[in-house]
Amino acid sequence: EPIILKRADHKVSRKNISSAAIKVLYHLKDEGYTAYLAGGGVRDLLLDRNPKDFDVATDATPEQIRKMFRNCRLVGRRFRLAHILFRGEIIETSTFRAPVPEDPNETLHGENTLRIEESGMVLRDNIWGTPEEDAMRRDFTINALFYNIADFSVIDYAGGLKDLENRIIRVIGEPDKRFAEDPVRMIRAARFAGSLGFDIEEEALKSICRNNDLLKHAAPSRMYEEVQKLFFCSHAKAVFQWLEKTNLLHPMFHDFSHWLDEDKVRHDWVYQTLEQMDRWRRAGLRVHPALLFALIFGEYHEFLIDQLVERGMSSHEAARNAVQSHLKDMCTNVRVPKTAIYQICDIMSNQARFHRTKGRKPQRFIQSKGFLDAFLYFKFSSKAHGRDEELLEYWTELRKSTPQISPARKGKGS
Ligand code: ATP
Ligand code: MG
Repeated sequence: EPIILKRADHKVSRKNISSAAIKVLYHLKDEGYTAYLAGGGVRDLLLDRNPKDFDVATDATPEQIRKMFRNCRLVGRRFRLAHILFRGEIIETSTFRAPVPEDPNETLHGENTLRIEESGMVLRDNIWGTPEEDAMRRDFTINALFYNIADFSVIDYAGGLKDLENRIIRVIGEPDKRFAEDPVRMIRAARFAGSLGFDIEEEALKSICRNNDLLKHAAPSRMYEEVQKLFFCSHAKAVFQWLEKTNLLHPMFHDFSHWLDEDKVRHDWVYQTLEQMDRWRRAGLRVHPALLFALIFGEYHEFLIDQLVERGMSSHEAARNAVQSHLKDMCTNVRVPKTAIYQICDIMSNQARFHRTKGRKPQRFIQSKGFLDAFLYFKFSSKAHGRDEELLEYWTELRKSTPQISPARKGKGS
């Protein structure tokens, strides 16, 4: 039996839920369906945090949902679900799903197909289920809470309320099995522990340390999505420390983590980078992924570049070669998009230009498209190392006195 908290006994309030999510919930309810707010939204509201987004769970099927909402699109291969589009907001609405059955043949019929790979990974699971089953197939207890729009109660099938109170990330079911089904859950555990300041429950933690290599089996494109979330959650440093503690860094960033482990001092750069990232995020600044990765891997890339330069390559060529070959290798685990790889290469190969201050070159550089990102990197590394201070001042002054191409102006009229 679930624990049900009545309206008076919890602090989830409709005024903290986006109006778009409220509309979806009421429309489903008025059509006679069960409609719950689910997942991270309920968790964050109970923690007095601002949810990043609101997800809805219902017993209406994707087809039924699509017929109810004009602004609806069905998406997802792995999970078929509805995206209901509002201005500036998407409400992800999914049909209650059953957990993975022991015997996959049981449910191999029609649209509701499921495949389990040899490693135990689930490739598709469109199997409709009850609210309880839907709660139990979720990753962690604190992510399995529902808020019922029909009576404003909070419904807890998995023990999430207690774990929220005790600040614990606990896997629903057997950790080994759940991580084998979907290895990405391991980095999600690190993300929630870091960003919420929670502990990972002991069995789950041991299981991650034992199974971290499974992460190699995760789809590289999905890894890229989750990896971005790790570093954009405004608690990137804490998350990174969990990744180190659990050795998850290794299957994610193989070469880089090896290099880090060779010398403790090398961690300092990464920590400084992530602290900076967290300050930027908390100040509401948007940092794009290319700059993020350029910074995180910066010290490592410079190390690789220096090696090539010592062998006689020009600094520009060395930067392009070193950065490209590292990131391309990384793509087998974490698929960084090509455009981001080019941007990171540009940031690194442009660094040498900060040392050329004669003639027209500085003017041309400062008005080129890649200048701003390169400058942010240069500024960061100059401060982190306490080096090139005069150059930094020179470029900062020059920037102030030179009209620049700004993306905002470029976009006008198009
Ligand atoms: P965030 O604050 O990052 O949005 P979230 O908990 O909402 O955190 P989402 O990735 O948006 O995370 O997923 C929404 C919900 O879907 C989760 O709360 C969880 O219940 C469920 N979920 C997401 N990914 C998985 C997964 N890999 N395995 C099981 N359940 C998952
Ligand atoms: Mg979410």
